[in-house]
Amino acid sequence: MELGKDVKYVKGVGPSRVQQLNRLGINTLEDLITYYPRNYEDRSKVKQLYECIDGEEALVEVVPVNKMAQIRLKGKTMFKLIVRDETSSATAIWFNQSYLKNQFKIGQKYRLYGKINNVNGKITISSPVFDSEEKKNNTGKIIPIYPLTYKLSQNTLRRIIENGLKEVSEELPETLPNYLLKEYNLEDINTAIKNIHMPSSYEDIKDARKRLVFEELLSVQLALLELKNNYMNEIDGIKFDRDAKMSDIINQLPFKLTKAQLRVLEEIDENMESNRPMNRLLQGDVGSGKTVVAMCAAYKAVKSGYQAAIMAPTAILATQHLENFKKYFDNLGIKCELLISGIKKSQKDEILEKLENGKIDIIIGTHALIEDNVIFKKLGLVVTDEQHRFGVKQRSKIVEKGENPDVLIMTATPIPRTLGLILYGDLDISIIDELPPNRKKVDTFAVTKSKTERINNFVKQQIEEGRQAYIVCPLVEESEESDLKSVEELYKKYKEDIFKEYRVEYLHGKMRPKQKDEIMQKFKNGEIDILLSTTVIEVGVDVPNANIMVIEDAQRFGLAQLHQLRGRVGRGEYKSYCVLRYEGNGEIIRERMKVMCDTNDGFIISEKDLELRGTGDFFGTAQHGLPEFKIANLFEDIPILKSVQSVAIKIISDDPKLEKPENYQLKKLIKDKFLNRIEI
Ligand code: ADP
Ligand code: MG
Repeated sequence: MELGKDVKYVKGVGPSRVQQLNRLGINTLEDLITYYPRNYEDRSKVKQLYECIDGEEALVEVVPVNKMAQIRLKGKTMFKLIVRDETSSATAIWFNQSYLKNQFKIGQKYRLYGKINNVNGKITISSPVFDSEEKKNNTGKIIPIYPLTYKLSQNTLRRIIENGLKEVSEELPETLPNYLLKEYNLEDINTAIKNIHMPSSYEDIKDARKRLVFEELLSVQLALLELKNNYMNEIDGIKFDRDAKMSDIINQLPFKLTKAQLRVLEEIDENMESNRPMNRLLQGDVGSGKTVVAMCAAYKAVKSGYQAAIMAPTAILATQHLENFKKYFDNLGIKCELLISGIKKSQKDEILEKLENGKIDIIIGTHALIEDNVIFKKLGLVVTDEQHRFGVKQRSKIVEKGENPDVLIMTATPIPRTLGLILYGDLDISIIDELPPNRKKVDTFAVTKSKTERINNFVKQQIEEGRQAYIVCPLVEESEESDLKSVEELYKKYKEDIFKEYRVEYLHGKMRPKQKDEIMQKFKNGEIDILLSTTVIEVGVDVPNANIMVIEDAQRFGLAQLHQLRGRVGRGEYKSYCVLRYEGNGEIIRERMKVMCDTNDGFIISEKDLELRGTGDFFGTAQHGLPEFKIANLFEDIPILKSVQSVAIKIISDDPKLEKPENYQLKKLIKDKFLNRIEI
């Protein structure tokens, strides 16, 4: 048995299948047997027809009472078979599957598994899979359902995987050390792989999953910790001057830094003065004052004779940072410049030249900063803002423009500790867990449709008082979910009807960046009263005059994302409001809305989000650079993640390079399964 062998040699895999499998990322035998089901169908328990519930998928044992009927319907052929068991009768229907015509014999027993439609006792079963009495291919067991593209059928893939499993014939080498299997009560790899694909019970699936998830999360966590360890202990970084004191700039600020800001700055200061490169994540809620922290770090770098680069995800944010930086640095003779893709070529060339000659101390920009022609004289510090907008690759591209510069990554996404450790296990983490004093809480209300008019009037009233409003809806246009209002439709309604006396504009993710920035700039300048938008405004744009945000279909967003959005208001002197317009009355929806109304603390919200969602896209639609897991689900598997984290920390502190004999499997696991394949 050779795990690395090409999947084309597995029985049942012909040339066209190879391509289909490759497209799913299955290239080798190992890929094949670790292509895990996304779900299961219990086709093991026979139900009687009379107990079948409308909408469920069920297995019934029935006999046909007459011949298969064929009906032409709008270009389709419907096959219809009347069947019955002791309790009731039902109609089974299929479309366009003419091979079915002669499959059924009147009076013989068949098992059918399919979706039940039960309207007042009139039962239909749609497109069921079936077995005759002697054959049990499709029913009588728990069936794995794989994530698939339409070309390959579940049956086919199931068969191929079963063939693959036969080839490894339960002789896979164990991938986890024995002491871990024992301590955490995990089953061996062969049992797990077999049972994940061909379980006899749900208990089997649970045990197999536990073992495989443990292994997967452990390999990621160990890899990150090992990476951090090596980086910290082996790479020479820059030792910034002790005499370049952050307090010089802190004393010039018009406000007192919060305790949390000061603590974080101390951590950064210590990193910067040590000769190991800093690799730090700064987490702080919206409005917690991360920019000024970046500014202090940049000051220290410049005063030590280095350049600093600040990378923001949009031109407007970069511009905003530049304005802030110049406010303090111009007087100190520290030269700050902006580099974004929109600027004129001659101007850009001049900036690039100055940067290379060291005449610019701090460059602030967008991903324009990572282009090849951007060359620094002496880059010492890289700060990336709102990092979830950047891929890891982009980040490292700018880092490579210096010689092991210090790196500070700032994010406003509050992440529960457990998740932080698996997302950023290779980084040190600093947290600003305190807002500047006198920050006003954004008053938040959750309302249903019935209050629409009152809310609209409230928005008008705020605008009359000179304020501006955001209205956010959850998608880019032309979503499949046509029940959701698209931005354009809403825009029309608001502009031409509800808010026709005001200046309404809209913004969405599919616009060109330049167009987006222009509209955002107009809003910032007060030339727009109401900005209708998708979530593209969620990053740190500062419009102090905007004091109200209405979020449409709020139940569609993750809480963390709602919180981010809400952070766009309450940035000025005015009392601010957030209205969550939601639909549905499920308990969880109401509970989630309540969390938003009750607290403004991002960390509490993110913990709650995790708890209430169970599954789902925690970070909203924003790409988060998460490693892709084959089987683990960061939400359902939190308990496993927690034990994995404590054991990973123990292992690495005890055996930092995984050199001990009992850990050789772990070493291999990280090398084979993780570092070579998954991009961190
Ligand atoms: P974020 O962490 O969301 O990036 P910013 O850095 O944009 O937050 O800060 C939000 C606002 O708070 C800015 O106007 C900033 O000048 C101000 N600010 C930052 N720190 C303090 C502080 N300690 N006291 C008062 N205001 C502060
Ligand atoms: Mg910010």
